[in-house]
Amino acid sequence: MGHPLLRTVAREVSRDEIPTAAIQELVRDMIETMDAVNGAGLAAPQVGHSLRICALQVEKNERYPDLPSLPLRVWINPCLTVLSPSPRVQMYEGCLSVRGVRGRVERPAHLRVESLDRQGEPQVDEFSGFLAAVAQHECDHLDGVLFVDRADSTTLCFIDEYLAFVPADERLVLLD
Ligand code: ZN
Repeated sequence: MGHPLLRTVAREVSRDEIPTAAIQELVRDMIETMDAVNGAGLAAPQVGHSLRICALQVEKNERYPDLPSLPLRVWINPCLTVLSPSPRVQMYEGCLSVRGVRGRVERPAHLRVESLDRQGEPQVDEFSGFLAAVAQHECDHLDGVLFVDRADSTTLCFIDEYLAFVPADERLVLLD
């Protein structure tokens, strides 16, 4: 947090660029980084590239032991459509770019994401609940938005305090 790229609207990747070594290498690096830190997602601006690319993966994740898994997804130029204003998901989020901090964010809980995959083929994903929150968090990075902008500021806390004082049943709540 504080790096200007995290506050910049990232540019789209052209279809011609997708097969280039630069983009393919960036995607591989992003996946490696996400795995190394056990993150659920990573966006290119977080690793120094102002491009509309994110990677998501939720699988046997120590940080989210009870949550649905998501096989690796790479989204290039994702376009997110909220399918309904309700239900909503209220979740304590964290971010690799805002280390050590958690805060409660409320977001729409059902959405569709249209994007290109790492081969440049169109793909569509539909998510609800926790995965919808992760998807919005990652797509926010492409627009220079951090979760702390959307969090209820009175809930911002450090991880030790989060673990000590936020009851497990308040960490992820689905609202009708
Ligand atoms: Zn983040």
